[in-house]
Formats: sequence, C-alpha cells, structure tokens
Amino acid sequence: MTIATHTLGCKLNFAETSNLQKQFVAAGFGIVDFHEKADIYVINTCTVTSVAEKKCRNAIRQAVSQNPQAIVAVIGCFAQNDAGQIAAIPGVSIILGNEQKHRLLEIVTDIREQQRQTKPLYINTDEPRSFQLSYSGGDRTRTFFKIQDGCDYFCSYCAIPFARGRSRSATIAETVAVAREIATTGTREVVLTGVNTGTFGLHQGEHFLDLLKALDQVEGILRYRISSIEPNLITDEIIDFVAHSRAFLPHFHIPLQAGSDKVLKMMHRHYDTALYAERLQHIRGVMPDACIAADVITGFNGEDDETFVQSKQYLESLPISYLHVFPYSDRPGTHALKMPERIEIPIRKARSQELHQLSDRKRQAFVESQMGKTRTVLWEHTRHGAPGQETMQGWTDNYIRLQRPYDETLCGTVTPYPITNSTIVENISFED
Ligand code: SF4
Repeated sequence: MTIATHTLGCKLNFAETSNLQKQFVAAGFGIVDFHEKADIYVINTCTVTSVAEKKCRNAIRQAVSQNPQAIVAVIGCFAQNDAGQIAAIPGVSIILGNEQKHRLLEIVTDIREQQRQTKPLYINTDEPRSFQLSYSGGDRTRTFFKIQDGCDYFCSYCAIPFARGRSRSATIAETVAVAREIATTGTREVVLTGVNTGTFGLHQGEHFLDLLKALDQVEGILRYRISSIEPNLITDEIIDFVAHSRAFLPHFHIPLQAGSDKVLKMMHRHYDTALYAERLQHIRGVMPDACIAADVITGFNGEDDETFVQSKQYLESLPISYLHVFPYSDRPGTHALKMPERIEIPIRKARSQELHQLSDRKRQAFVESQMGKTRTVLWEHTRHGAPGQETMQGWTDNYIRLQRPYDETLCGTVTPYPITNSTIVENISFED
C-alpha cells in the first residue's frame, strides 16, 4: 500500500504531515510522490486566505483524478472550518479537522477493513483541544519543530483560532525531551514553530523564555530559529537572551500586519506602531546584523489612501530586512466582515504589489549591508550544478543563502564563510 501527501500553508502543517508519514511508514506503507498513483492521498489544508483554499480544492481534485479508487483524506484547517464545502467534492473519503487528524492511520485502517465502497464519507471536526509535539523530517540539516498550537487573540481578520482552537503546548520538560530526540537524528538546526509561539506555556504557568533557555542547553543542536513571534510577546529579555545565547540565531519574524495605529486597532492587534518600532530598535541595538522579517496585510478595512501612504512611510522607516505581504482576504466567521470602511479588492492587490517592491528594496539593502562580512553557514547535503562543478548551499545565521564548491566533509557542519557577489545564491524565495 502506498500513501502520497500534499501540505499547504504553514510550517506547523509540514511538521504534522511528517508525523503522519512516520506513522504510516511504521505501519508498512510506502511513500510516493503526490503526482504519482497512490492508494491513499492526504491533503493537509490551510484556510488562511481564499487563495489557500482554492489550492486545497485543486489538490483534492488532482488526487481523485489520479486514482478514483484511492482513499482521499482531507485534513487540517480548511477541513476544520468548512467540511461541507470539501464534502461536496466527489471522491473525498475522509475529512478530519485538527483534533482528529493525528488518528488518520487508525481511521484509514478501519475504512479499508470495512468495504470502502459501502461506507459513507467519514467526517470529524471536533473542536481542537489536544496537543502533540511534532517535527518535520526529510531534511537532514533542518527541522520544523511544533512547540505550540492554537491562539487566544482572535484578531478581527483571522480564522486560525476557529481552525486550531485555543493556545496550548506541552511542558518545557516534555518539549526538551523531544528536542533531545531530534538531536539524535543528526539534525543541526531546529526552527521553533507554532500558531502564536510566544504564548507557549502560559496556560500552565510556564514561559517561552524559560523554554528557550532550556533548549539552548540541548547538546547536538547547533542552531535554533524562532519562526515567528508577536511584537507584544518578544520582550527585551527574550531579545537579550537570543543575542547572548549559545545557539539561537539573529533572525526574527515579527508580524506587523499594518503600519497604522487606526488599522491595528481595527485588526484587534495587541500593540501599536510605537511598540513595534521600539522592539526593532532594541534588536538592532544588540544584534546589528540580524535579519528581521515582517508580515503585512494590505487593504484591510479602514486603510484609506492617506492611511496607506502613512503606513508605507512607516514601513520604509523601519530597520526591517524584508516583508511577507498579503492582500486582505475575507475569512468566513471573522469580525472583520461586519466592519465599515471596506477597501475594494483591486486596490488591495495594487497595494500588495507596491509593498512587494518595497520588500525587494529592503532585502537588497540588507544584503548589501552584509557584503564583505563573514557569517556562519550550515551546509546542506544537496549537490547543485553540473557534474565536475558541483556546489553546496546553506543559510547564514542571519538568513542569507550562500554557496561554495561541494565538499562532502562539510555536509551538516557550520563553518564561517564570506558574503560576496560570487558566494550569494540569487533568486531564491525567502518564504522557506
Ligand atoms: S495572533 Fe492573530 S493573526 Fe496570529 S493566529 Fe492569532 S488571531 Fe490569527
């Protein structure tokens, strides 16, 4: 029996898909590419935008057309929030929300044993409450480690709290135990992921900073990155700890979403532009070469022309290295749908393009500021280029992609390397 998976959305989903793959492999299944014929297809879905949902529907139809006899399981956030829409797609066999998706192997086994042709569509979208630590596999140098799930913030534009439930995590001791397990796999870099990572442990009296301190002690892991942390949760103590820690890297992803206090208020965010700028200044003060990325949503309610111009000026003034820009997209069930001052979709898209160009300029300026410096690089195993002229690649601590002539002895090691025009890898995505 074979299984093929397709994952959309955030790194959390990738870590969870990896966990499922491990379970299926342990049960004797073979893994094949999603473009091949498989007995079971798993689509781990995303609901963050309407575009993400469209990609999910396309992936489901692709799976059904490749093997109409296959069990097609649709799991994750889109499945949680709109099972009805997915159930209407012919050929779907299983729909599991975020609470039940880790039981997929058990449910598939049950369906296979009970004459699938006569069994109705299996749907379970219980409210997500449980938590499972998980980490992605397949890359021998880097893993995405899910340390937290869910969110209590209910930002007015966001459907994620409905899809993933309230904030929860394991204890520090349990999380560190899994980090030690990761270290035994030879993985050198761990990216800490979650929905609202900085709220780790709060429901049980523990704190994110204490987790970072404990993880820093785990032998064998050479590097940690914090995938994303809310501006109001990245305290001076956390920034100072990262600056002086053994293994935490000077690379931050701090969602901003809007450069206007009026819009931030309408978004129900937990900070204002002054706090955000102050956080970034503190980072730059103690880590001048840090890479700092920000998420921005364009065309949210209330962002009139004047507000957008102010917002763009604010973004220009910030010491950020690049932006992740998204045009605002209506999400069913969110408070934003009831708000006034809505912005037309073509305007949202035009502003998004404008900010993508700003992001390119920021990225270029950041890379230029690093030219001639030597930073540490974790070298990956993959060979690039033509035979005889093979190169290897890796990320610097501050997230610049470099290349050098291939040397097998360097795979999985961290070494200093200069940033120059010839060592930089051009045209790469910073979504990785
Ligand atoms: S912090 Fe806001 S944007 Fe992020 S997951 Fe929670 S509700 Fe959504």
